[in-house]
Amino acid sequence: MYKIVSIPGDGIGPEVVAGALEVLEKVGRKHGLDFSVEEHPFGGASYDLHGEMLTDATLEACRNCDAVLLGAVGGPKWENLPHDKKPEAALLRIRKELGLFANLRPAKVYDALVDASSLKDEVVRGTDFLVFRELTGGIYFGQPRGFDENRGWNTMVYERYEVERIARLAFEAARKRSGRVMSIDKANVLEVSQFWRNVVQEIHKDYRDVELNHMYVDNAAMQIVRNPKQFDVIVTGNLFGDILSDIAGMITGSLGMLPSASIGSKHALYEPIHGSAPDIAGRNIANPIATIASVAMMFEHSFRRTDIATEIYDAIENALASGIRTADIAKPGEKTVSTTDMTNAIVRQL
Ligand code: NAD
Repeated sequence: MYKIVSIPGDGIGPEVVAGALEVLEKVGRKHGLDFSVEEHPFGGASYDLHGEMLTDATLEACRNCDAVLLGAVGGPKWENLPHDKKPEAALLRIRKELGLFANLRPAKVYDALVDASSLKDEVVRGTDFLVFRELTGGIYFGQPRGFDENRGWNTMVYERYEVERIARLAFEAARKRSGRVMSIDKANVLEVSQFWRNVVQEIHKDYRDVELNHMYVDNAAMQIVRNPKQFDVIVTGNLFGDILSDIAGMITGSLGMLPSASIGSKHALYEPIHGSAPDIAGRNIANPIATIASVAMMFEHSFRRTDIATEIYDAIENALASGIRTADIAKPGEKTVSTTDMTNAIVRQL
């Protein structure tokens, strides 16, 4: 029995999570797997009910389950709250409380959507790589930090254990893919990056079957756009990963297609990278694919069922190949379908 906590959240969150749960139920029936899905409020939905974005009850439920599926949080209604009461603060807190130190973002280009990319067909077709971004260390958390009238400062620091654990995750993932890891740093300028590189090389001794290469971050930004197919697994620190994962995601086309996983040693949270899209909320037109693909990532990383993850990715690919499109991925003048129609089409493929 897998215990899943579902946090639909705000805006289009409940619409896309409903679609993802249908896919979960379908693969559960198909493979004879039992799931318990418990829904909890978070974000604006929680604020309206309980006066806080993240309650102890929701946090406790997340600590006691096998995986969390999150829709999105936030919206204009809660925008003017004090900084520490905002939905973003609750997102940071849940990630920190659950110890989610690795953020995984796949950059996968579906054949049917090749022309949605800003890159040329021959450059982007067949792109399929995975970025591991370190999420709880590096310059975003290092001390000292601050600014005064004449100076601003932050500290980029990595502890050995922080590099070791994300390097291991990346090598393990590469073993299940094409067996190549690219570690990205700025070791020609930064001592912290030289340290990162040394530790990654040490951990590599336990993964000799995986090919390890290193690239400077400025070159990596260029290479992702020039020849994205050269990458399989990328591992990098918090700041570089923040920037590179956005570049990597966007060459694939649309925000509505991109899933993510945030993983720690005990917990894992899966969510689309998009927000609550208040401009289209409640109209049943949001693209559920990013959230459905987040369920595929859940099978891959939390339940170690790459076979089921592949089935879900294939079902998405086949639904797209049949020509079905939500508005965000349709060409001008093309017929579009609703969130529920897209979900049903994917469930049918399964
Ligand atoms: P957004 O991602 O919500 O929307 C950006 C644009 O993309 C909008 O035009 C939207 O309609 C479209 N879009 C997004 N997801 C889509 C989907 N699945 N299908 C079709 N179209 C889609 O970003 P935003 O407008 O900057 O933010 C809106 C709210 O979401 C804000 O309150 C923001 O704080 C919050 N937000 C939350 C998260 C999160 O929960 N992790 C992430 C980003 C933004």
